[in-house]
Amino acid sequence: MSESDEEKLGVATRLVEAGRRPDLTGPFVNPPVVRASTVLFDTVADMNSGNAPYTYGRRGTPTIVALENALTSITADAAGTVICPSGLSALTTTAFAFIEAGCHMLLPDCVYGPYRHFADTMLTRLGIAVEYYDAIAGAAGIEGRLRPDTRLIHVESPGSNTFEVVDLPAIVALAKRSDAFVVVDNTWATPLFHQPLALGADVMVLSATKYVGGHADIMLGTATANERAYKQLRNTHGANGTTAGPDDIYLALRGLRTMKVRLDRHQESALTVARWLLDRPEVAAVLHPSLFNGQGHTIWQRDFTGSSGLFAFILGGWSEAEAAAFLDGLHHFGLGYSWGGFESLAILVSRDLKRTATPWRPAGPVIRMHVGLEDPADLIADLEQALTRAKPR
Ligand SMILES: *Cc1c(COP(=O)(O)O)cnc(C)c1O
Repeated sequence: MSESDEEKLGVATRLVEAGRRPDLTGPFVNPPVVRASTVLFDTVADMNSGNAPYTYGRRGTPTIVALENALTSITADAAGTVICPSGLSALTTTAFAFIEAGCHMLLPDCVYGPYRHFADTMLTRLGIAVEYYDAIAGAAGIEGRLRPDTRLIHVESPGSNTFEVVDLPAIVALAKRSDAFVVVDNTWATPLFHQPLALGADVMVLSATKYVGGHADIMLGTATANERAYKQLRNTHGANGTTAGPDDIYLALRGLRTMKVRLDRHQESALTVARWLLDRPEVAAVLHPSLFNGQGHTIWQRDFTGSSGLFAFILGGWSEAEAAAFLDGLHHFGLGYSWGGFESLAILVSRDLKRTATPWRPAGPVIRMHVGLEDPADLIADLEQALTRAKPR
């Protein structure tokens, strides 16, 4: 099948067929889990030729190539993908691909916390000027901050914990002024609901730990780049040595096959739960991109085709202790970090979320929840009993 024929296929078909090549899988449906450091060559001439498909375990195996190809083929306008041992390492490897000594880098104020920590510690130590912008302000948020030496503009949309939606096309247009690379953390929407490279971004990063894996049993990250960025990304990935283990890569590929059915269900159930929460007197606000009334919602409607299972809500006027009692009283929501697995989770978002561009002052404790694949009626009944029991008198 030609590439343009492939592009016409529906996303569910592409998820099932992506990366399945006879040279990788033989007669089998799935590729082997190749455990390899050493790759053997027939002759010295072969070894020196520079065009062997595989040379060393860290530099690629049929298992790695199958997942790389699968992610590249489901991402619009992608030239290639690299696989890293975690989402965070995919973010840091991507940053190292585009920054240079003394340059300037912009990140959204609502960026994933551990990546903010990397930027504020490692990158500032290396002389990178790290600056944060207000994600909701869109282009206006970065316009005054953009510099001729801005090499990298990071976007995470919606933002971690607070779910601000970023105006990516506006940021892409501004990035051209200083030739900056635009990197999008697309973990929340995945390529199924948002295609950042088609909107002009250069690299899409996923924590495959979340929806790609989908079963809370692996750590893995991926970075998929357009033609402009791919070579630089691939070279840095090689220089960095950020390779991942074959079992995790295999499980990510296996997760990918069912990602559409899982995400459709996460979307539907999360909306059911979020709409129920909207009507509860205890709830001051629901932070869900498809239920927002503000600017973020309009951008989400324009640039996204769906929403996933992660959102937050605010318990208006409750104390932290009351919110903790509510969480402790839940039976079907686990109390744990991460998300994107089949199971429901809830956490209390810190009131001290680090924000430097715009202060963060919620009207009460913020609960972030991941709605899993359970029956939504059971989840709602659980929330109802826990809210009623923990409610302040
Ligand atoms: C979890 C997460 C990451 C980091 O991924 P790990 O696989 O845990 O390292 C990055 N970005 C976002 C938005 C995340 O939620």
